[in-house]
Amino acid sequence: MMKSGPRKTSTTYQVGLDDTDSSDGMCTTFLTFKIINLLTKKGDSRLIDYPNLIRLNPNIPWKTRGNASLVIRMESKLSKEEVFSICKRMVCKYATSKRANAGLVVFEGETIPEEIREFSQRALYDVQRLALALKIMDEQQITYFGLRSRQGLVGALAGIGNELKNDYTFELLAYRKNCALRRSIDKSRVIEMDRRMSPLIFNSYDEKNDHVLIMPHGPDPVLLGIRGETPSAVRSAFDMLLPLKNLLGFMIFRSNQGTGEHLRNELNLSNPKAYTSGIVTGKVNSKPTILRGGHVYFELKNQSGRIPCAAYEPTGEFRMHVLSLSIGDEIEVGGGVRKGTSIHPMILNLEYLLPKMLQPVYRILNPRCPKCSSSMSSKGKGQGFACKVCGFKSFSLVKSKYEVERVISKDQLYLPDLKAHRHLTKPIQRYMLEPHAEFQDALRKNLILAK
Ligand SMILES: [Zn+2]
Repeated sequence: MMKSGPRKTSTTYQVGLDDTDSSDGMCTTFLTFKIINLLTKKGDSRLIDYPNLIRLNPNIPWKTRGNASLVIRMESKLSKEEVFSICKRMVCKYATSKRANAGLVVFEGETIPEEIREFSQRALYDVQRLALALKIMDEQQITYFGLRSRQGLVGALAGIGNELKNDYTFELLAYRKNCALRRSIDKSRVIEMDRRMSPLIFNSYDEKNDHVLIMPHGPDPVLLGIRGETPSAVRSAFDMLLPLKNLLGFMIFRSNQGTGEHLRNELNLSNPKAYTSGIVTGKVNSKPTILRGGHVYFELKNQSGRIPCAAYEPTGEFRMHVLSLSIGDEIEVGGGVRKGTSIHPMILNLEYLLPKMLQPVYRILNPRCPKCSSSMSSKGKGQGFACKVCGFKSFSLVKSKYEVERVISKDQLYLPDLKAHRHLTKPIQRYMLEPHAEFQDALRKNLILAK
């Protein structure tokens, strides 16, 4: 882009951060908020995108709470070394938990190399190794820094490689001044906000369970988070909740949350890999049963192989839809492969169900007595039917076959209850929306960012 006046000497940097948090506090989004405030305060750095909140494969057991990676994409007059050293100082200051295997990655340049983009795509559904991340970073001359096991470098690199070019959403995250104070919010205001702003905002309130979803419960600095389709929608929704006690500030992130981006690749049943996420099409091969703990299980089969599938208790009503499947039904499911143990086989943990073809299900009934309309009983094979009420006997009456109406419908998507949604789960109302166009330059110029 040509501009009048002296040539600017700004450079584009893409900074990835991951695993600075742990279950005992902190949140990488908060560190990002702090770093951005620090970098932009002096006026020599400018964001060229909302900070990105990239969720990675949710089925990896060693992930931090939500497996989120954070990315700052900016133009700056600072050198790469200066940007790196500011970020590193902040990571060391905040990622103090013994379990924070922090990763920091600084890439210089506008165009993300294909190799990093591919690494990033795989990180959405597969297990990516630290060794591969290190190899790529060395080849691409990426400056990086890690703490403890440095596992966060995988997410940090994967983060910068996901430019959210397809579908994306926004989340406004508000932070609190004092983490010792209990969070509280007037539920009626959240309900009112949800009513006025849906579907432009989503996953704020679970009506079925009368549960507020915007407020976390952990020790981290997040006061609340509002998810939605546009920056102005999440900002308007947030304004409806003001004033808020204990509010430090907020920031809006662009994200792959709510896009279902981890469920795009097909899982191969001939060799399913533990911890991968994906989709499978096949036939129901065993009658679904509800077992101890309220979990529902059945076996799915296709040309490549077979796998037990589970809809766990927290998925709520979803289990009833799974339970109503019949042998032979053709379905598509998405989910994550849970590792097999000596007691349990490898299991596909279901995240959605889409019936493609439903088998007709019949119920066979004994004839009704023509005299008193009671249900007759069979006297045995070839022995006819007898009425137990009035004693009427018949050799000519036969059993009748009825097609039973199925509880589930073909081509309808079934999702777990809201409370069991993963960050990446695409909420049902988002399927009705036109996909977002590629994030436009015009939007980049007018970031509604923070306070
Ligand atoms: Zn009768």
